[in-house]
Parts: sequence; C-alpha cells; structure tokens
Amino acid sequence: MAMKVRTRFAPSPTGFLHIGGARTALYNWLYARHHGGSFVLRVEDTDAERSTAESMEVILDGLRWLGLEWDEGPGVGGDFGPYNQSERVSIYDAYLEKLEAGGHVYEDEGAVRFRVPDKTFTVQDQICGEVSTNLKEQGSTRYDADAKKEVPANPDIVIKRPNGGYIFHFVNVVDDIEMGITHVIRGEDHLSNTPKHLALYEALGVAPPVFAHIPLNLNPNGTKMSKRDQGALIHEYQNDGFIADAVNNYMALLGWSGKDDQEIFTLEQLKERFELDGVNKSNSKFDYVKCCWVNGEHLKSLSPEELSSHATPFLKAAGIPVEDPRVAAALELARERAQLLSEIPGVIATIFATEVSYDAESVEKVVSREGMKEILTALTEGMNSVENWKEADIKSGIADAATGIGAKMGALMFPCRVASMGSTSGADLVPVLELLGKEETVKRLETFTAKYL
Ligand code: GLU
Repeated sequence: MAMKVRTRFAPSPTGFLHIGGARTALYNWLYARHHGGSFVLRVEDTDAERSTAESMEVILDGLRWLGLEWDEGPGVGGDFGPYNQSERVSIYDAYLEKLEAGGHVYEDEGAVRFRVPDKTFTVQDQICGEVSTNLKEQGSTRYDADAKKEVPANPDIVIKRPNGGYIFHFVNVVDDIEMGITHVIRGEDHLSNTPKHLALYEALGVAPPVFAHIPLNLNPNGTKMSKRDQGALIHEYQNDGFIADAVNNYMALLGWSGKDDQEIFTLEQLKERFELDGVNKSNSKFDYVKCCWVNGEHLKSLSPEELSSHATPFLKAAGIPVEDPRVAAALELARERAQLLSEIPGVIATIFATEVSYDAESVEKVVSREGMKEILTALTEGMNSVENWKEADIKSGIADAATGIGAKMGALMFPCRVASMGSTSGADLVPVLELLGKEETVKRLETFTAKYL
C-alpha cells in the first residue's frame, strides 16, 4: 500500500502572512488534498525573540480566510503534537542524544555542532532537479566584523546555541521525521539548506522525505517582494475587495499551470488538477493587474447569493441600503464592471442616492456641446411617455425622442447617462434607468436641466 501523503506548512511567526508563504501553504494543501493525504500546520517558533503571538494570529487568520484548513496543528490538535516547536524541546533533546550516541556532534564554545561528513549529498528535487553539494568541500563562511568581510568558518553545523536554543536545521528535520512528513514543499530559498538536512537524516538513520522547492515569487522588475509592495500581504486582500478563491487561483498560477490555457479555477478544480510536475522551474513575477482580473472572473461566476454575501460589507461601508429590493439587480450590473468587491459601490451607488453627485468633468462634456437643452427636453418628454417601465420600452422611448428631434439615439445616451447617473462611468445606462424608476429618472433629468442648462 502506498504511504499516505503528509505535507506541512511550517511558518515562523515573525511577521505577516506574505503572498509567497501563502502560496507555499496552498501548494502543500493542494498536494495533500489531491492525494487524499493530510496537511499539517507546524509553528516554527524556536526563535523566541522574534516570534510573537500576534504574528501567529495573523498567519492563522490568513490561512482561515483563504480556506486552507489544516488537519493537524494549532487549535485542531492531532496525533503528532504539540505543533509549536517551542513546546517540543524534550523531543529535540532525545534526538540530540541519538546524534551524540552516534558520535555525530561535539561541543564548541558552549554550542553543539553537527559534524558534516566529507561526502556529496544529492537532493533529488521534484521541481529543481538534482542538486549536489559536498558541505565540507564547499566550506562555510562567516562575517568578521573587525575585518569587515566574510572569512572561512567551520562547516560543521551549529544545531544548539550556547544559550541552549536549538537551531532551525535540526528542529526542522526532527519534526519532519516525528510528524511523518512525506513531502516537503517549500520555497526555493531553502534549497541550499537541504544538503544539510540530508546529512542530518543520514546521521539519524532515517530516509528523507520527497523535496520540492518552489521557485521564488518576485516583483515585476525582478526584485524581491517586500511587505510594502502592493499585493504582498494576505490580510490586505480581504479589505481590498478580493474573494479568497480568486486569491488562491491567482497564487496557484504564480508558479504552476495545468498545462493548457485554462487560467480560472475553483479551489475544487485546483485540487483535482494540482501536481508537482506542473510547477514552473523559473521564478514567477507578481502581477497585481492580473490578480485583479482573476478576481473579476470569479465575481462573474458567483451565484447571486454568494455575490450578495461577499458584497454586503462593502455596500454597507458605502452607505448603500442593503435591504433595498433593487440591490440584487444592481449587483448583477456591477459584476459586469467591477473586478474587486470594493469597486462595486462606485458602480451602483448612484442608483440608491437621494441626490445625484455630478462629476464635474462629465458635466462639462455635456454642457460644452450644442443643443443640449433641446436634447434634455426631448429626453424628459420621451421618458415621461414610457408606459411600461422596462428596459425594452425605455430604450424605445430614447430612440423615439431622438427621432423626434432628428438626432441619433447615441447622441442622447451620453447626456442621459450624465444627467441621470452623474458620470460617464458606471453600470449600463438603460438597466440603471429601469432600477431608478420612471419618476426618479424624470426628476433627475429635470434637475440636471435646471442646474446646468
Ligand atoms: N520556518 C521555515 C520558514 O518559514 C520553514 C522552512 C520549511 O518549510 O522547511 O521559512
């Protein structure tokens, strides 16, 4: 029987959940789900000075918002806990004893060093291919503050500090062994650490897991992304008007493809399709514009109920009365124009406004044209005579008004839009007029005429 897949996401709680980290979590989650395995969340908080509870909360909240639920870990428990490294010291002590018994470690100025063997370790990486290193030959360097340069250093790896704290490489390997992790999927920044990890596996007499290092995600100009870059922090996506599945979809595309032209995926589809052989070997470049596009595509495919529940907080914040029976229809118009939930109020607010707020530039475009008073008068009369206030009849009403003054229908649409909606932008005119109702439409046309013409 094949071994059950167990993946893990192992964040260090020293900051926010960054898009690169979230992508790593997603790939681990997808891989585990695709193979019917388990996804473990392990908190790598051995660095007591830099780890904070606030950071952990931000990371957990981010994963929850994305819907990447973990099968074992904080708040969930599991058979391989505790899942915070700070609570696993006795396990690390026991593993250190194993290394001591095998003669693999020695003391050096209060620290414990792991003796790296003089041999080549080869990482068979599922994404990056084979990477071979002889740690001893490669040597090590450290920064000498007096000489102000890197100087040769002992290649044997410190696994325990003089203050008693264990070092990342050691606890990371111990936990992957103890937690039965079968696939280590993580950022390429850890590829160069992996030969050290292989040396530790060998010394402990344990077969290493499968490694898959995901190429980095960079800024469009090829620089490293920082938390100040747009789109870098997961907790900002929600406020910015993204829906979680769109962010998952975009993160999946940042380094993976399904080997065809499909770009829009539900989480369910990603789960079905995701395999490590679809992960790109080169670095990806974060593209906020594309991320917004993906979100817009997801908005289009939400059910009316889903759209309403996602949009409601944004409508409320913009003062749009969500109990108004026209909201559902307005949302249908909005999703044709908006990519982000946060853009929706701007598209439809005018429908619910008691007073139109006129965009000066749009108004100027209308009043600077000849014959506008005649057009507005014809429009007002035309609208007044529509009996069945539905899109088709409203449209004929505008067409008839145009014919009446020997103008093209198009010449009436633009002033009608500015007069009734306040701006050249926004949702489609005629459906908006239907939602406004006849009385309100006529009132708006009259108000505009009185004010500007
Ligand atoms: N705590 C490490 C990090 O956040 C995890 C490394 C790993 O996944 O093995 O980079």
